[in-house]
Amino acid sequence: MSHRPLQILIIEDETQIRRFLRSSLASHGYELLEASAGQEGLEQAAQLHPDCIILDLGLPDMDGLEVLSRLRSWSVVPVVILTARGQEQDKIALLDAGADDYLTKPFGVGELLARIRAALRRTAGRQVAELPVATVGELRVDMVRRQVFRDGAEVHLTPIEYKLLVALVRHAGRVVTQRQLLQEVWGPEYTDSAHYLRIYMQHLRHKLERDPARPRYLLTEPGVGYRLRDEA
Ligand code: CA
Repeated sequence: MSHRPLQILIIEDETQIRRFLRSSLASHGYELLEASAGQEGLEQAAQLHPDCIILDLGLPDMDGLEVLSRLRSWSVVPVVILTARGQEQDKIALLDAGADDYLTKPFGVGELLARIRAALRRTAGRQVAELPVATVGELRVDMVRRQVFRDGAEVHLTPIEYKLLVALVRHAGRVVTQRQLLQEVWGPEYTDSAHYLRIYMQHLRHKLERDPARPRYLLTEPGVGYRLRDEA
């Protein structure tokens, strides 16, 4: 065990809730980090590596689900979602999107602490190297800001192209099977749609490779899948 107090990052625009958590978590030995918008929260998560994140769904700049999905492209930190009353039907979607637990407002501090402890327990041992910005040769993928650069120039990718690239970045240097890519990017019902993959891989090569016909980074492993070359 380290001697540092556990750090909890709250991403929530309501100052009253942040103030409430600031005093109640401090009195239980946690250190609270605060962000009042989604982008600010992602940047703090990338820089400060909190032990747990409490994420509100209603944020001024970005939907909470979008924050969660961006965060999950590079981080396995436990996330407890705050939902407003009436959003209960979204809970399955939240868990599918990578949330560890959720809490409906208004909530008591005892309940929140129990959720945090449970999330930390369940996710102990999940620690892996977190790389919010990946560099592969002349490509740079900034998963905090959701930006992709080639040779320093930003390249605009569609949501599907971006998800496909991130799926390859997460396994850089290793072969990812067609089935796995289809499942991660499109969903489990698309695992037989290999033609989607071929089309989108072509799009990615046209945007990211100097010579799309002779790719240096986005390599095909015939009959198996694709591999992002991690050295250039
Ligand atoms: Ca809010």
